[in-house]
Amino acid sequence: MNSKIRAIARRIKEYDNIVIARHVGPDPDAVASQIALRDAIRLRYPSKNVYAVGTPVSKFNYYGKLDKIDENKLSDALLFVLDCPNIIRIDGADITKYKEVIKIDHHPYEDKMGEIEWVNVDSTSTCEMITEFLISARYRANKVIAENLFLGVVADSDRFLFSTTTPKTLELMAILIKNSRINIAEVYPKLYLRPLNEVKFQSYITEHLKVTKNGFASLKIDKKIIEKYGVDSGTASNLVNNFNNIKEIICWALVSYDEKQKIYKVNIRSRGPVINEVASKYNGGGHAMASGARISKQSDIQKLFNELDEECKKYKSNLKKENENS
Ligand code: AMP
Repeated sequence: MNSKIRAIARRIKEYDNIVIARHVGPDPDAVASQIALRDAIRLRYPSKNVYAVGTPVSKFNYYGKLDKIDENKLSDALLFVLDCPNIIRIDGADITKYKEVIKIDHHPYEDKMGEIEWVNVDSTSTCEMITEFLISARYRANKVIAENLFLGVVADSDRFLFSTTTPKTLELMAILIKNSRINIAEVYPKLYLRPLNEVKFQSYITEHLKVTKNGFASLKIDKKIIEKYGVDSGTASNLVNNFNNIKEIICWALVSYDEKQKIYKVNIRSRGPVINEVASKYNGGGHAMASGARISKQSDIQKLFNELDEECKKYKSNLKKENENS
């Protein structure tokens, strides 16, 4: 058992009130990891009060229900922040209200939140880290917990396609599947079954992507198109991973307008150039190959596109030089 896991297990044992939060605008890894950790702690310590908090997202209801709490009424509580590197993006928890904060995350390090921080950027997902924690600390995972963890890993590794997938990932998944007897064929549809209008919307995106000679592809999706295809404004975000492995494209960005927050949401992916440094200039961040940004001024969208295109150009030119020298 690594020392972080040992320290985390000890803290869980000590606290009666435990809250588990994750990042705003959650993805399957964020929601699945918080619900799986909550359920595993409840299973082991039925008398503890354990809550998973944050804004509920109806499309992720299949992971389980989130809890509503009044932080002011909690005394001496422990807060877990999962899958979230920075304080500003924590959804539904104020770290100042807790006696202790533990961060478990696989994003590049940003803000210090507490004394115990287990950050592993080489991990596919926070769900992989939670799986490691449960197995090492000898927590039981029932079928629901195991399914949630498996789906979180599958989603964040794009079904084990990304380079973050290691022998350890597969070993942990093997133990999870074996111990909890989950049926992979039964759980995949939760993540991959989708309506025809969404598939048609994906075809629209493919058809209209603007691809530069440097291999940068982008599309700003209009409200009219969202209405035409009967999807919601967040659908483009769910589809962004589907543009991987296209020969002519090494980096791609989809932009959609979030009416509620009055902001342009940009989902950026790469299979070469590092993109999170560019994203961080536009109120964004994330992983080296999977980032997001939030833009309020329309004119900044083209600026962001130009910077990403420039990264593609540099990446291709470096690759060319390396090939010439080898
Ligand atoms: P997304 O494109 O929303 O799936 O996000 C890809 C990755 O970038 C995830 O790890 C997000 O947590 C991160 N990310 C997305 N948007 C932002 C943002 N505005 N600021 C920092 N990180 C972000």
